[in-house]
Amino acid sequence: MSEKVERIKTLIIGSGPAGYTAAIYAARADLKPVVYTGMEPGGQLTTTTEVDNFPGYPEGIDGPTMMIQLQQQAERFGTEVRIGMATAVELSNEVGGIHKVTVDDDKTIEAETIIISTGATAKYLNIPSEQRLRGGGVSACAVCDGFFYKGQDVAIVGGGDTAAEEASYLANICSKVTMLVRKDYMRASKAMQHRVNSLPNLEVRYNTQIDEVLGEQVVEGLRMVNNQTNEKEDIAITGLFIAIGHKPNTDIFKGQLDMDETGYIVTQGKSTQTNLPGVFACGDAQDKEYRQAVTAAGTGCMAALDAERYLATVESPEEVA
Ligand code: NDP
Repeated sequence: MSEKVERIKTLIIGSGPAGYTAAIYAARADLKPVVYTGMEPGGQLTTTTEVDNFPGYPEGIDGPTMMIQLQQQAERFGTEVRIGMATAVELSNEVGGIHKVTVDDDKTIEAETIIISTGATAKYLNIPSEQRLRGGGVSACAVCDGFFYKGQDVAIVGGGDTAAEEASYLANICSKVTMLVRKDYMRASKAMQHRVNSLPNLEVRYNTQIDEVLGEQVVEGLRMVNNQTNEKEDIAITGLFIAIGHKPNTDIFKGQLDMDETGYIVTQGKSTQTNLPGVFACGDAQDKEYRQAVTAAGTGCMAALDAERYLATVESPEEVA
């Protein structure tokens, strides 16, 4: 490994709405932020077509354009945006300590404060027909893309709270929703199950999985298979929603930051403070409940404000006290 080391004030890891909003606030507060974009510059929104639910865009905006504009806004105030992936971290547990982050296994960034906005990745089934039709009717976000299937027949896969919540959301706007649950019961809370079962246009198929998504360019149907009888059945749908969970992109912080059992970073109270001083987490890396662009942006703002207060305390403790 080479000996490239750079000392900076504020490092932001991840470039979704949380990271760029943190950057806008941090740059305006003169925290001189450097953003490392990660593998997917712009984050999950770059895989979405139209974003209709971010306030301020009355006509909607496509996800990639929105992310470019967020980047430009962050850069306007002096944020340095770099393509690169944080590959290892050595976080200090002392107030005023320096945190070390390796980027692309090649360079070490030493930062006074770190904002983690590495996001989460939706899990997919990873069968070929599903992967081929991503963006052509296969989506992992009903709240983002459900609207495009208004009045149409759709299906959703999963039996957890997310699937139940998204199935109810879809049932409000689509003509029929078929929900595929692989076991003979749902993992979702009883309240959510009750909601799902009360919707007349929502049909739950237990012990059922996807054999194949049908359609060449766009989704035209689904071949389902009953995993008890191996019986197959085709239904016509135009949209397929995968709701089998998300994986937070937090592996490199394991063992150093407190996380819940599924890998989401734990933050303290209403703040973005992690268990280590000077290390803040925002967006989907610490939020499994809401996971919206606008909520991620909100916590990004909070992280920058928390970082600013932290640095002020470290630099002039007597003034802040
Ligand atoms: P979960 O991990 O809870 O559920 C995932 C679901 O997907 C399970 O039913 C699982 O089936 C199914 N699944 C996984 N892999 C496959 C596969 N390959 N094929 C078919 N089905 C599959 O994830 P969620 O995103 O639903 O929830 C994550 C956490 O967030 C939970 O703690 C949940 O309670 C919470 N949450 C809370 C909400 C709220 O309170 N409003 C809203 C949304 C989420 P199986 O059961 O067989 O493993």
